[in-house]
Amino acid sequence: MVDFSLTDEQHALREMAHDFAAKEIRPVAWEFDKEGTWPAEIIKKAWEVGLMNSHIPEEYGGPGASYFDGCLIEEEFGWGCSGIGTSLAANGLAGAPLLLGGSEELKRKYFGMLVEEPKLAAFCLTEPDAGSDVSGMRTTAVRKGDKYVINGSKCFITNGGYADWFTVYAKTDKDAGHRGISAFIVPKEAGVIVDKKEDKMGQRASNTATITFNDVEIPADHLLAEENKGFKLAMMVLDRTRPGVAAMAVGIARAAFEFAVDYSKQRVQFGVPIAMHQAIQFMIADMATDIEAGRLLTWQSAVLLDQGKRNTLASSHAKRFAADAAMKVTTDAVQVYGGYGFIKDYPVEKLMRDAKIMQLYEGTAQIQRLVIARETLLPRRVDEPAAAVA
Ligand SMILES: Cc1cc2nc3c(=O)[nH]c(=O)nc-3n(C[C@H](O)[C@H](O)[C@H](O)COP(=O)(O)OP(=O)(O)OC[C@H]3O[C@@H](n4cnc5c(N)ncnc54)[C@H](O)[C@@H]3O)c2cc1C
Repeated sequence: MVDFSLTDEQHALREMAHDFAAKEIRPVAWEFDKEGTWPAEIIKKAWEVGLMNSHIPEEYGGPGASYFDGCLIEEEFGWGCSGIGTSLAANGLAGAPLLLGGSEELKRKYFGMLVEEPKLAAFCLTEPDAGSDVSGMRTTAVRKGDKYVINGSKCFITNGGYADWFTVYAKTDKDAGHRGISAFIVPKEAGVIVDKKEDKMGQRASNTATITFNDVEIPADHLLAEENKGFKLAMMVLDRTRPGVAAMAVGIARAAFEFAVDYSKQRVQFGVPIAMHQAIQFMIADMATDIEAGRLLTWQSAVLLDQGKRNTLASSHAKRFAADAAMKVTTDAVQVYGGYGFIKDYPVEKLMRDAKIMQLYEGTAQIQRLVIARETLLPRRVDEPAAAVA
């Protein structure tokens, strides 16, 4: 039986996340976007009310929320401001490799840091010459006795400038392509250098930085999973985090849709509110359908995870569709506003800029289609358990 209704607890969680987005995020979202202001106070408040680190299990001090519950929170963050929402949610991305491949000691220590104080972690996969194709990464980790020595540079790292620890992917076998990648936990204090803060088109309140490692030494036990299993670990991480990104895209689309509906009822042209014109009604109708469909795909991809099943195909369907829908819905929202939509005094141009990144990070729209094509042409069973890495 399929039941799309939320439990009382899920209703309460969604309401709490919505209230937080409405009271703490929305009032400053457009102002923070202007200057690219870092939302330090909002991060502190979200941590205090328990809206951060939702996936950290209870045994490590977290709430141990389900992936589905995480999506409820992320849709509301996306509705409030996806730039601030990305800053609040990125610990989930950085923490996923630790959850899947870390030892007990590592989990206690590094999840402990996040639950004891409003601290941040960052996920370091992308490099200047290795984006969609991470097998070309140049960062290396060389084992020397009981340590690894890391050298290289990572770009576009969310929360990079403010993180206290990093999950870092590096080559442990330079000639083995994606089979030569390993993953590590690297504490900031090991000597991590923050090089550059990007000036972005959208999500301007999030921090995106270049991170450099010059002979950074870490204990050998900071390896996650096994040597040369980092690529598989990264793919498993993205299966788990793409539903959250899709949820955020649904939130952006919902925000643009609400603004467009309100405006269409107020703006009068040719003697009637523009909502009376069928061309506008059809845009509003398509927006509504895209939001519903995006949410359903997102929920399905999260529920599969919560059931311990493989969700590779479902999470790419969700991320691909919700991101493209967010771009279309926000672009059409600008259309509904007409010329005013293009002006910064009105709310929808920010949402259109913010939506663009949803088609780029955590696997571009094209990479999602590659995954969908592969999983469709060479199907794997969805009831295969979502395997552990180590
Ligand atoms: C704001 C922001 C935050 C980010 N946060 C993080 C982070 O926290 N951690 C992290 O590790 N990375 C992060 N990234 C990096 C992001 O994941 C990459 O930008 C993304 O994976 C694409 O890589 P690329 O930019 O090098 O583009 P490229 O891989 O160079 O792609 C360029 C174009 O070619 C297309 N393309 C590439 N290969 C193929 C193919 N085989 N078939 C068809 N089309 C293809 C792409 O879809 C794209 O349209 C972030 C990026 C941004 C902009």
